[in-house]
Amino acid sequence: MVEAVRIVAGCSDYPLHLGVTEAGPLRQSLVKSSAGIGSLLLDGIGDTIRYSISGDPGLEVDAAWTLLAGLDLRRRGAQIVSCPTCGRCEVPDILSLVAQLENRLSEIVKPVTVAMMGCVVNGVGEGTAADVGIACGHDQGVLFVRGEPVRNVEPSAFIDTLIAEANKL
Ligand code: SF4
Repeated sequence: MVEAVRIVAGCSDYPLHLGVTEAGPLRQSLVKSSAGIGSLLLDGIGDTIRYSISGDPGLEVDAAWTLLAGLDLRRRGAQIVSCPTCGRCEVPDILSLVAQLENRLSEIVKPVTVAMMGCVVNGVGEGTAADVGIACGHDQGVLFVRGEPVRNVEPSAFIDTLIAEANKL
């Protein structure tokens, strides 16, 4: 698909639709479609896209928006910057916190970047770069809003605080 579209793009000005057809069930389609569609979009090729998933059609729309937002081609909804965990992580349930954050932020359509980071090593940089972010330390986290440290937050209030601050922006 990628090779064919590149050839057509090189010899015509027609609008081009991108999609990896019959890409399979969710996990396989997400990986294959993102690689194929994403590589072309990054080169400025493509006018419409479709994820082809053997599953809920709504997931195709979600995946397309997520790719466009991830490539910074369209901004809609929340982008989450989150700790993938390592030995420095100060919060035992960071993965559950990130899952809660994703669930709660799914209702927000305005473009906002929210960071939930597990330590101060990468957390300060990512928290500062996001619109709203928390960098966890021991037993508390530092809240950043638009690049500035605002206050310390208790772990039990991390998610509510991030949602409230994101809604205020
Ligand atoms: S944010 Fe901190 S704890 Fe999480 S992966 Fe990065 S360095 Fe490790």
